[in-house]
Amino acid sequence: MTEKTCLECSEKIVGRADKKFCSDYCRNSYNNKINKDSKNLIRNINNRLRKNYRILEIFNPESNTTVAKHRLIDKGFDFEYFTNIYTTKKGNVYRFVYDIGYLLLENDYYMIVKRER
Ligand SMILES: [Zn+2]
Repeated sequence: MTEKTCLECSEKIVGRADKKFCSDYCRNSYNNKINKDSKNLIRNINNRLRKNYRILEIFNPESNTTVAKHRLIDKGFDFEYFTNIYTTKKGNVYRFVYDIGYLLLENDYYMIVKRER
């Protein structure tokens, strides 16, 4: 018989071999922590996306506009965060944050576009 310890408090577990926690209390607090962590992760990513979206809106085109990369970075734009990628038949790759997209042009300029509804 192998000795198992509680995932939450590391106490020895007595009883069934598949038990992971010493008590309901430990199981609940362990699961609550996991949920909280994933909620924080989601909230943080949502905040990043929202910030990126606001920055794109600042440069937001009535028609397509171009903007220097450093101007986006100055505002705090984070190129790691976008919601989807659209590749045209010509092979241009647009990254979108919701309905606003950007395409890398030459010389570190980006073109910003808004998707038609
Ligand atoms: Zn425990």
